[in-house]
Amino acid sequence: MSTISHPLASKTAVITGSNSGIGLGIAKELAKAGADVVLNSYTDRDEDHALAAEIGKEHGVTARYIAADLSDGEAARRLVTEAGACDILVNNAGIQHVAPLQDFPTAKWNAIIAINLSSAFHTTAEALPMMRKAGWGRVVNIASAHGLTASPYKSAYIAAKHGIVGLTKTVALETAEEPITANAICPGYVLTPLVEAQIPDTMKEYDMDRETVIRDVMLKRQPSKEFATTEQMGGTCVFLCSDAAAQITGTTISVDGGWTAL
Ligand code: NAD
Repeated sequence: MSTISHPLASKTAVITGSNSGIGLGIAKELAKAGADVVLNSYTDRDEDHALAAEIGKEHGVTARYIAADLSDGEAARRLVTEAGACDILVNNAGIQHVAPLQDFPTAKWNAIIAINLSSAFHTTAEALPMMRKAGWGRVVNIASAHGLTASPYKSAYIAAKHGIVGLTKTVALETAEEPITANAICPGYVLTPLVEAQIPDTMKEYDMDRETVIRDVMLKRQPSKEFATTEQMGGTCVFLCSDAAAQITGTTISVDGGWTAL
């Protein structure tokens, strides 16, 4: 296996929330770049393990699936220790709930903060000593355009995503003199199951058909009027793991079709 076409050969990547959507796209691109990958979600189905096996076979890397419910901090920590190695940590798991603040269910607030923010604290705390021992590390947090800007009715999500941008900066400063970087990718809208699930409610709320909801509501703030893709998220992650990005740390990279330029 050539290290030019497989720049991440011999690295192990742990990607949280990677049995679908952006996490899966990132796992595939990291595997294509030669990294061994550990996939994760809270389910423990045959199809989850089969997904990992398929990626391993396609790219000639070791690919495993480890079930861990990241709403539980101890489980998040166990995911990293069970992985055994963690050169690249991608904190991607996330959920969404949309409601006005006064109606926002406390249980949803707690779940979103736990999964979208606190899990990254726990996994990073376990991974940093492993990266230091290995003499190299990359932390890539999947934030959002909503880590930099706000929208109504997404209080917990926006608080968690702004929080993960802050966590990213702190990790970068604590590792600044080491060969470890920490950055956040801020996607605009990417058509994944998480976004797909928001379409029916938005159609009802605005009394619009699917196409109009996509163009005039979801992509209203995305000047390109195109969804970003999971492959683009994976490619950005591979770039952040490359030597070219060794001095990029503590920052955010927007992949949002111009959203945050508005
Ligand atoms: P998705 O629903 O397809 O994927 C979310 C992943 O998280 C899934 O694998 C899911 O199983 C996992 N997950 C959920 N709860 C979990 C738990 N308790 N423990 C472990 N895993 C859990 O959604 P997605 O759109 O791919 O989102 C991935 C990330 O990207 C999220 O952090 C999301 O906030 C962020 N993001 C998405 C978009 C978008 O437009 N899709 C935009 C900006 C940011």
